[in-house]
This record gives sequence, structure tokens and C-alpha cells, in this order.
Amino acid sequence: MARRAPGMAMSLLAGEPGLVAILAGILGLLIGSFLNVVVYRLPRIMRRQWASDATEILLEPEIAAELQLPETLLSSLSAALKPLGELVQKLPVLSLSKPRSRCPSCGHAISALENIPIVSWLMLAGRCRACRCRISMRYPLVEGAVGLLFGLAALQFGATAQGAASLVLISLLVAMTLIDADTMLLPDALTLSLMWIGLLFSASGKGFVTLEASVVGAAVGYAAFWIIGTGFRVLRGMEGMGAGDYKLLAALGAWFGWTGLLPIVVLAAGVGSVVGITLILMRRATALTRLPFGVYLAPAGVIMLFFGPSLVALALPGVH
Ligand SMILES: [Zn+2]
Repeated sequence: MARRAPGMAMSLLAGEPGLVAILAGILGLLIGSFLNVVVYRLPRIMRRQWASDATEILLEPEIAAELQLPETLLSSLSAALKPLGELVQKLPVLSLSKPRSRCPSCGHAISALENIPIVSWLMLAGRCRACRCRISMRYPLVEGAVGLLFGLAALQFGATAQGAASLVLISLLVAMTLIDADTMLLPDALTLSLMWIGLLFSASGKGFVTLEASVVGAAVGYAAFWIIGTGFRVLRGMEGMGAGDYKLLAALGAWFGWTGLLPIVVLAAGVGSVVGITLILMRRATALTRLPFGVYLAPAGVIMLFFGPSLVALALPGVH
């Protein structure tokens, strides 16, 4: 029987691993539901921001001077871009919290009752309550997957700093996997946050690796992919990897140290190759099709979370 310090929630939970896992699982369902919103909205928020930035940047006198734009082109550009800028300003507010979720087909505002993770989707038989159009099965699947991963992380790490950090890592990696799959984007807001959180977590002394291993991991992760990406561009004249991939590997290096980089890249490249070759065989892709690498890199990070020490021992025998 574990001794319990009265009044301390963490110590109470420490003696109840099953309860911790269930609570984490429920939290995962709710976070999964929020991640569905993030995955849908973040790329849209970014596109609006780019459009708004582009209209302003193109009209800066320094840009026009640098491009040596003729006066006539400059005036027609400004005539076209000013209304575009106003149009972007007038779009209805879109943020992660506003407006509340709506059916993408009919605009029906989704009530709290229709927003219960998994349960609502099942109750509605996968259809919008107003227009009866299909709601993607991906939403309940994401909620279930995040709930499951949260529960497993709680079982493995318990009610500890590592357990709490795992939930943050899983959330960001799930969001990145889906956004990269949908849009081939890996938002800085996610990759760089993950890297800084990983560095701070290691600096706390409670992380998965030392601060030293974490800093080296972030730098080597970024550099390794930068070299591969730049080499590809110079030698083959094509974009093999995006800067988002460099930042994501840097982030994973910050969490798992430099020794974690090799197993993560091998896992991601292995699964990515199998999927790539399958798509080519199914004639859905060619050898030149760019696959979003973050789709494999981010899940490799999740696998690393659960099997890190064994994977490092396999990839780098003799290194601790
Ligand atoms: Zn609808």
C-alpha cells in the first residue's frame, strides 16, 4: 500500500496509475476535439495572414525600387492590391476560439451537445444535424487516438513532470501530422513552440535527456536536414524537404537529444519509403512527387516517446 500525503493531488494520483490513465484518456478526448479545430483553422489563419502581409509588402517603396517596377505597373499594382487588402480586413473573424465550430456545408453552429468527443459523432451517425451531410470519420478517430495516446503516456510516465510533458508533445505532434498531410505546411507556431518547450523541459532537469544533449540534438537535427535539403536543391534542382522539416527535427532533437535523431529519422524514412513506393505502384504518385515528410517524422516522435531507450540502443549500440 503506497503511503499517501493528505491533501496533495499529485501524491494521491501517484498511487492510482489506472485512475491517472483514465483521467488522462478523458482529457485526451477533449484535447483531440480541440486539435481537430486547430488542424482545420490554423492553415486558414496563416493564409489570411500571408495575403494581408503580401498586399502590404508589395506596396512598400523599397520593394518597388528593388524590383525597379515601372511607374505604370506600380500604380496598377496598388490599384489592385488596396481593395484586396480591404477585403482581407473585412473577412469575418477567424481564430482558434472564434467563431464557434460550424458545419462546413450548411453553416449550422455546432452546439455543446453535438460536440462531445466521439459520442456526438456516433449519436448523429456521422451526419450534420441540420443538413444531414456527412461529417468526416477523421474527427472521432483523432479524438480517440489522442485519448488513447494520453492514456498510454499516463500509464508509462504516471502523474509526473514527464507524464505532463508527454501530453504536450503528443498534442503538438498530432496537430503537425494532420496539418502537414492536409496542406504540406508545418507551422512555425507548432514546430518552434515544440522546440522551445523541449529545451526548457530538458533545462528543468526532469526531461528525457540532459540540457546539453537537448541543445546538441536541436542544433544537429536542424543542421542534418538543412544539409540534406540544400544538397537536394543544389544537385537535383528540386525541393526535397522544407524548412518546416528542419525545425521539426530540431524540436525532436530538443526532446530526445542527439542520440534520438537517428532512430527517429530511420523510422520516418522507413515508413515514408513504404508509403511512397506503394503510391508509385498504385500509380497515385511518381518518384518526383513530394511527400510531406512531417507526416512520418511527427509520428516517429510519438513512437520515440514510448520506446525511446530501446530504439536508441538498437540504432546506436554502445551509446548511453
Ligand atoms: Zn450541415
